[in-house]
Amino acid sequence: MAVVDTLVPLDNIDSLIRAAEDEIAEGPPAIAEAEEKLRLARGQLERVTSQSSDVSKQIHELEVDIDGISQDIEKTRTHQKQAKSNKEYQIFNDKINADQEKINGIEEKILVLMEQQEESRTSAEKARAAVGDAEKTVAETTESVASRRVELEGQLAGLREQRAAASAAIDPEDLVLYERARKSARGQSALAPLRGTVCGACNVKLPPQTINLVIIGKDIVTCLSCRRILFTDDMSDPRKDEEEQ
Ligand SMILES: [Zn+2]
Repeated sequence: MAVVDTLVPLDNIDSLIRAAEDEIAEGPPAIAEAEEKLRLARGQLERVTSQSSDVSKQIHELEVDIDGISQDIEKTRTHQKQAKSNKEYQIFNDKINADQEKINGIEEKILVLMEQQEESRTSAEKARAAVGDAEKTVAETTESVASRRVELEGQLAGLREQRAAASAAIDPEDLVLYERARKSARGQSALAPLRGTVCGACNVKLPPQTINLVIIGKDIVTCLSCRRILFTDDMSDPRKDEEEQ
């Protein structure tokens, strides 16, 4: 058995630990993303609600205007009854007609605003539903992240025990080389298979001397470029590339 074979179980455990830690780290950003969507949905609801109340206020103001003009018309009618001449009567009539025109104009504006009000009501309903959905997503995400975290912490505890056992079986000097290789690989596998005459991880061509040492398998041999520990498997055939060249 090549010395590198003793590192395989440890490397596998470390990859599982890394995956569990990565998944735990993804939790808080997922919650933050859901909370951000909720914040935006609430902002939208606030905007739509305030638009709707602006329109209601405008409608109310126009209705007050109509009331004022209607009262004016009533007064004019009273004066008209006391008109002393046809000409005077006609002047009051013109005033009443002009006021009625004003009311008609305002009523048209109110109709347009009422359509807007209806639209804002629909938008507000949609915005409220969106807030509800976003609140639900925040609650669900928070809960699933929390329960998954408990699961992963449990797995990690088991994996750390396995790791302690696996590393106890490895020569301390080899362990140092392994840790260094793992660090260079930024949390990825510390091991790289030989592929023809190149490193299977970084594809850099290896010197014949290095290839020979890997095949012999007595010592830990690292790739000069990516620093991973090299090993041979069924697909490692150092003659392959030589023949092609
Ligand atoms: Zn390499």
